[in-house]
Amino acid sequence: MCEHHLLPFMGHAHVAYIPRGKVVGLSKLARIVEAFARRPQLQERLTLQIAEMLMTNLDAKGVGVIIEATHTCMTIRGVKKPGAVMVTSAMLGIFRSNLATRTEAVNLLTGGNR
Ligand SMILES: [Zn+2]
Repeated sequence: MCEHHLLPFMGHAHVAYIPRGKVVGLSKLARIVEAFARRPQLQERLTLQIAEMLMTNLDAKGVGVIIEATHTCMTIRGVKKPGAVMVTSAMLGIFRSNLATRTEAVNLLTGGNR
């Protein structure tokens, strides 16, 4: 839900992380995304909050989150841009410091099959 207009935005959250040994269940990743998405949000903040929460909770070497979403406030209000997708990303740890790792993650997360 967009906190400016209280209208829903819908899309995909892509999550990548490199564990330091502790591997987490996939359902836990989904639960964390859902918990933050349920509040009125800005997509940018949502993306960063998920990344920071995972980074802290998993003691990961790196976390990358990419969210692609369409905002109903953009499609039904003034600007009327149906189909416009907003993409935000947050890269922490090794995903921020190592270009090769980041590039690999972005390619995996945004590549063809979803
Ligand atoms: Zn909005």
